[in-house]
Amino acid sequence: MLKIAHQLGFYRENMSCIFCKIVAGEISNYTVYEDANMLAFLDVHPCSKGHTVIVPKKHVENLSAMDGELWNTTLAGVQQALKKVYTALKPDGVNIGINDGEAAGQTVPHVHWHIIPRYKGDAGGSVHSIIRSKESFDVSAVAKMFS
Ligand code: AMP
Ligand code: ZN
Repeated sequence: MLKIAHQLGFYRENMSCIFCKIVAGEISNYTVYEDANMLAFLDVHPCSKGHTVIVPKKHVENLSAMDGELWNTTLAGVQQALKKVYTALKPDGVNIGINDGEAAGQTVPHVHWHIIPRYKGDAGGSVHSIIRSKESFDVSAVAKMFS
């Protein structure tokens, strides 16, 4: 039923969510990839040429709220969007990331992946440049917190 609703274009999960409005076609987008469950579109404030956002059509706020099935469909969508980006733009590499939660920089509370194409000489950093804590940690003590 959800699939049919999507295809007919009247499906909207959350009235106040900007990504749900994009999925419903109420806000236009530059689509990179779409299937029954996922939509990938160009970010309007790109970090690099071809910066793409991938969202599940189902409104889910963050990673903790995703079940296993949604993880699978979402990652399959990320893979398909990635193929499109590599084919269209031929970047030298990509960073793929997600800001999960406000503390991590999430501004739109509808779970989404970023594909950020990278080009030789673009002067950007790696994932490691997101944060370099001033605190030092004893890794073995942190490891005990998992047991
Ligand atoms: P985040 O900060 O991880 O929540 O990312 C939200 C992203 O959505 C930002 O990179 C925004 O530039 C992008 N964004 C917000 N509104 C739109 C829109 N209408 N179309 C495309 N991208 C958008
Ligand atoms: Zn939403």
